[in-house]
Amino acid sequence: MRVIFLILIFPVVLFNCGSSRPVMEGVESPIQSIPNPNQGKPAKNLILMIGDGMGLTQITAGIYDNNNYLTFEKFPITGLMKTHSYDNLVTDSAAGGTAMACGVKTYNNGVGVDKDGIPVKSILEEAEEKEMMTGIVVTSALVNATPATFMAHQKLRAFTEPIAEEIANSGVDFLVGGGKKYFDRRNSDDRNLLKEMETKDYQVEDFINNQRIQDVKINPGKKFVYLTADDDPLSKITGRNYLPYASKMGAEFLKARSENGFFMMIEGSQIDLGGHATNFKYVMSELQDFDETIKEVLQFAEKDGETLVVVTADHETGGLTIKEGSKLKKIKSDFAYGRHTGTMVPVFAYGPGSENFSGIFDNTDLYRKMKAALALESRN
Ligand code: MG
Ligand code: ZN
Repeated sequence: MRVIFLILIFPVVLFNCGSSRPVMEGVESPIQSIPNPNQGKPAKNLILMIGDGMGLTQITAGIYDNNNYLTFEKFPITGLMKTHSYDNLVTDSAAGGTAMACGVKTYNNGVGVDKDGIPVKSILEEAEEKEMMTGIVVTSALVNATPATFMAHQKLRAFTEPIAEEIANSGVDFLVGGGKKYFDRRNSDDRNLLKEMETKDYQVEDFINNQRIQDVKINPGKKFVYLTADDDPLSKITGRNYLPYASKMGAEFLKARSENGFFMMIEGSQIDLGGHATNFKYVMSELQDFDETIKEVLQFAEKDGETLVVVTADHETGGLTIKEGSKLKKIKSDFAYGRHTGTMVPVFAYGPGSENFSGIFDNTDLYRKMKAALALESRN
């Protein structure tokens, strides 16, 4: 039996050896991670970047799909994060966002509340109390679960109009995302929250008439909100192009106006949607867009020297795999299914305080680590 087996596999092995070439032939080695500034000092500013549904395989596939390099490789510090929620090993974005924003485990669907539905302050709200500037830039509707967990407190993520009301009252200095209709054409009342925001010192802009955010002139004395769509913004494939620009613009906007530093959350919201659709091209295009955004943010942080950048995910979506037969720029992928999974997600950090983001920790610890890096409690 064994002899027959050897006879059968021997030519295969021989053939493979004869034809094998290095898979990275002609590809330059990746650039090393960048040096970490101001270690041991508190960070003045913090930019948290969340890739919704961005597991380790999404990033790995993105690297190979991009000829073996993405900006992720620049981060000097990496860690792994557990994502389970209070009531489920597989989290949704509401509970995952709440864990990172507020430091508590809650049930799936809960937004900025604990397991009993009681509101818990978010790090963004605590930063505001310390007179830091705040910003949110996302590629979902602003009322969507991830951004909502930083600005709102609702028992269910589906309460989108109450979430919009909380966002309008949040005092966040720089807001970019979709979901205009939840603010100005509401089912539950006749209020126009965007008009109300104008009276609260916001410069209110939107996508109507194809006005690109790139063409908006900023009024320096005001807070800023730009609505990018009526509901969820376009995907990258179908023409969305604001995330890298708006993120850089936001960081510069907040820095120019803050003596006390700023807290900003940027979300690549649609990596998750690609996973739900089990659409590999969708996932890759959104991941690339997020990587472009990381590049802009790292450039800002490198110049600034006082900004901590933390990149992570709320959970993985799709159970993505890279299959045998994959080649550089020609990945053979498969999805377990179009839902969230419970695998740990990677964490990347750069800047003052980043050294505490290595190892394995819980998503609620991310909140505590961010607060510690900002020395938020001891700020006055
Ligand atoms: Mg999200
Ligand atoms: Zn999802």
